[in-house]
Amino acid sequence: MIYLDNAATTKMFEEGADIYKKYACQSFFNPSAGYNKALELSHELDGVRSALLKKLGAKTGNIIFTSGATESNNLAIMGSKRNGRQEYVFSEGEHPSVYNVAKELASQGHIVHFIPLLPDGEIDYEELKKHLNLTTRLISVMHVSNETGAITNLVKVDALRKQFAPNALLHVDGVQAFCKLEYQIDDFNVDFYTISAHKFHGPKGVGALYVRKMQNLKNIVYGGGQEKGFRSGTENVAGIMAMQYAFEKIDVKHNYEKMKILHDKLVDIFEKDEKIKIIKTCNPYIISAEFKGVNGETLMRVLQDNDIIVGMGSACSSKKAGNRVLESIGKSKDEIKSHIRISLCEELTTDEIVYAGNKIVEIYNKIWEKVK
Ligand code: PMP
Repeated sequence: MIYLDNAATTKMFEEGADIYKKYACQSFFNPSAGYNKALELSHELDGVRSALLKKLGAKTGNIIFTSGATESNNLAIMGSKRNGRQEYVFSEGEHPSVYNVAKELASQGHIVHFIPLLPDGEIDYEELKKHLNLTTRLISVMHVSNETGAITNLVKVDALRKQFAPNALLHVDGVQAFCKLEYQIDDFNVDFYTISAHKFHGPKGVGALYVRKMQNLKNIVYGGGQEKGFRSGTENVAGIMAMQYAFEKIDVKHNYEKMKILHDKLVDIFEKDEKIKIIKTCNPYIISAEFKGVNGETLMRVLQDNDIIVGMGSACSSKKAGNRVLESIGKSKDEIKSHIRISLCEELTTDEIVYAGNKIVEIYNKIWEKVK
């Protein structure tokens, strides 16, 4: 099988699974308990916090472990809410775990602005500027789009915030960027940054929220007071340790260089066929392309019968009709129906990519001949 849906999820590292097993079956203690073995685990979790801050490029700040990005996004947005009517800015491209929180805030009577996207998938910075003011409470944008692969210029967003909304907090959903792009979150002055382990070969159901200053956050679940009271519930120790294994193992720079080669090979193959239209971004990990005249779902199914797995945009939204994000960049209903998403990982080889690329074009043209 050639798996090209790594933006939906990745295969866990085998050694990470061994670590998971060790912490599930041997060092299985509750880190909040009082005996030495539990205290040791609690120290180990603190070690993961420090290692994660370092990997993120944050000299200061805090890490709260969560059940994944959906929870981290909810915690950052709902947990930074203050009394009274607040003003928010979100991009149209956000994942449902941000977008639907934004809609909830709007239904609660808060002022919520959605910033449109440009045809290349990036957010419209001019529009963003227009919606910032002194009362903006939170700006929430994604670092990399899970749909198009577009990268948000966070230095620019931070500069606009400083100039036009100096009181606003900045939340970034970094799920598709962490362990893939080279950056230091300190360069963006983010207040909250979300990550999820299963997008970088860690286990599902574990993630984290980076919080620059704890006084900007309040807990949204109530319970035993774990994670300094900000996220009650016994920590997923085995998952957290396996997540650490994954982010420490990944050589971001090396993988990025490899991915550029694979990406360019695939783009070269697709560009030979004028009917295939790629959304051009600077991100080598995700290629979203329209296969004109052919239903993307049909193409995905025939490819699956040929042992090639591709995505249809966000797995979380693939069961729903249409695609809000592609609509927002100006794609018509027909164009959206013909889109598939190919997302790479460093375990793929050049031979696999060349084989898969040619096979995708071959199968696409066979279907095209039948339907045109
Ligand atoms: N944000 C983005 C950008 C994502 O791609 C995803 C996963 N599709 C999530 C959030 C949700 O992540 P999780 O599965 O960890 O809740």
